[in-house]
Amino acid sequence: MSFKQPELPYDLGALNPFVSEEQMSFHYGKHHAAYFTNLNGLVDGKPESDLALRKVVVESQGPVFNNSAQAWNHSFFWHCMAPGGGGAPQGEIKGLIEAQWGTFDKFKEEFSTAAAKLFGSGWAWLAADPSGKLEILPLSNADTPLRHGKEPVLTLDVWEHAYYIDYRNARPKFIEGFWDVVNWDFVNKTLKAPFQE
Ligand code: MN
Repeated sequence: MSFKQPELPYDLGALNPFVSEEQMSFHYGKHHAAYFTNLNGLVDGKPESDLALRKVVVESQGPVFNNSAQAWNHSFFWHCMAPGGGGAPQGEIKGLIEAQWGTFDKFKEEFSTAAAKLFGSGWAWLAADPSGKLEILPLSNADTPLRHGKEPVLTLDVWEHAYYIDYRNARPKFIEGFWDVVNWDFVNKTLKAPFQE
């Protein structure tokens, strides 16, 4: 068995103007695809190849961890965005954000700052601890809340490959645009049932 890159939940150009079709073609079609190719090359014929991807992410080390986590992180990230998304959070997440940060604007500011300040490559995460309490976690490289016993709720990829075609070095502008496409319906789903793919 081998790990298969899930289909993008929308067309390559669907998040335009936040992410252009060219940017998404490289990010999904080259970078994300390569993590699957590399992972399959590493685990082919080994017991890990029969595990759920999520389990490999939690239990592996070194290159298998790097590639499995990057495979899973991106699959999760695509769902965090949707054409027609953005705006203020609705449903359960609205109350949880307000309980933790007071207002959505305050949360947005803290998440954006964490994403902008993350040195080098990595991901800004919103994650829930086992009690359900939310926190913002800026994590380097392939690291994910799954490795810290926490459940991912929302993420933003701030590796340069995520934005360099459209934004060059302007990471803060990319972060600003993210809020126009956040898929709050998906975020609410992650609160009910952890994302598996
Ligand atoms: Mn990426």
